[in-house]
Amino acid sequence: MSESTIFKKIIDREIPAAIVYEDDLCLAFEDINPVAPTHLLVIPKKEIASVDDVDEADEALMGHLFAVIRKIAAERGISGGYRVVTNCGPDAGQEVMHLHFHMLAGREFTWPPG
Ligand code: 5GP
Repeated sequence: MSESTIFKKIIDREIPAAIVYEDDLCLAFEDINPVAPTHLLVIPKKEIASVDDVDEADEALMGHLFAVIRKIAAERGISGGYRVVTNCGPDAGQEVMHLHFHMLAGREFTWPPG
């Protein structure tokens, strides 16, 4: 079996992270290299490598992740908007092969991304 990713190690508490939310299905924690005043990573506990590996059996899980993102935004009183990003594969710059949604807030973001 392939070696576990850094995010699996965070899920299993093998390495530390600043966890801000957890339930049976997912975890949210601070990105170690934030690019905005709020930069969280929201991940499923299920080991899914990327969007490219999501299938129909994960439909409810994907909905849950977005519901959690919305809940975190509400709890933090994020009123000016926020950006949710997932990089999928090498051309998108995905570094960690465990599905994650970047949740970015606290400044204005430009479009298109680089
Ligand atoms: P990707 O480029 O795969 O979309 O994003 C991976 C993200 O994980 C990056 O923003 C990076 O800063 C973050 N990251 C990488 N290693 C760690 C770590 O050990 N702990 C935390 N909290 N974030 C990490």
